Amino acid sequence: MTAQLIDGKLISGQIKQEAAVEAAEIKAQGVTPCLAVVLVGNDSASQVYVNNKKKACEAVGIRSVSYELAEEATEEELLQLVAKLNADETVNGILVQMPLPKQIDEDKVILAIDAKKDVDCFHPINVGLLHTGGKGFLPCTPAGIIELIKRSGHTIQGQNCVIIGRSNIVGKPVAMLLMKENGTVTICHSKTRNLVEICRGADIIVSATGKVNTVTADMVKAGAVIIDVGMNRNEAGKLCGDVDFENVKDVAGAITPVPGGVGPMTIAMLMKNCLVAAKMQNNLI
Ligand code: NDP
Repeated sequence: MTAQLIDGKLISGQIKQEAAVEAAEIKAQGVTPCLAVVLVGNDSASQVYVNNKKKACEAVGIRSVSYELAEEATEEELLQLVAKLNADETVNGILVQMPLPKQIDEDKVILAIDAKKDVDCFHPINVGLLHTGGKGFLPCTPAGIIELIKRSGHTIQGQNCVIIGRSNIVGKPVAMLLMKENGTVTICHSKTRNLVEICRGADIIVSATGKVNTVTADMVKAGAVIIDVGMNRNEAGKLCGDVDFENVKDVAGAITPVPGGVGPMTIAMLMKNCLVAAKMQNNLI
């Protein structure tokens, strides 16, 4: 292995420690930051995510309150709960775990959450603020990616950054944040014609396709920084990313593992957004 391993567990731990210090400072000013976590249905992966978020709150010193609705809950029931949480001044952040059961329109739910409590940064107001460079929440996984790159000692300014994937949750917001850091950004997707060529010119590659082996060694410039967002299962059923890690690590300058790379960063950045929410709502920033 020649590449530096970018350790998401370590870096997310540092961010959570910093968040714990900040949470204590906020509490010292008489405000207890609080996140409301809403789970609808029995999806086992969602249950794990929600539990991890609650545990992280506890570790950081953020109060969490949780709500569980049945798999067959109606959209109206969920919207009523969101309205109640919007009105509750003790709740600073609202997280509705996605995906939602098919009878519920996710976009409607996202729109219903008060933008000031939208710690996932999914509400169009917050997406708009991100694009215009305003203050507010940062999308958790994309912001975590920026932290991984910077805290492992790499520069973004002036670098050719290639993103593979254009989703609202990862690809597009990563592009905005890399551009904000003065990277030169190219966004690729399933209709991109010359992906291999484009990647070969990249100093930084962020892959978020959800497809095994999207990035192979022949696509990587020597010394490039490789961020693997994908969470996939290989043929043996083992968790793996989008990148052919075994071969790419011998060419790249730095690489994130899966698991233990981008994954842990998402929750750490969620904790930071909860603190931003508590501060904004109490005029502490
Ligand atoms: P989406 O399915 O919404 O988007 C995938 C994107 O990849 C699309 O833009 C698609 O293009 C593009 N794409 C798919 N196949 C190819 C290909 N062969 N070549 C080029 N582009 C391709 O996924 P998400 O963005 O939601 O998630 C991506 C991955 O990241 C998933 O594995 C997901 O599990 C993981 N993830 C991990 C997180 C974490 O915390 N670690 C958080 C969020 C996601 P097109 O638009 O043309 O269809």
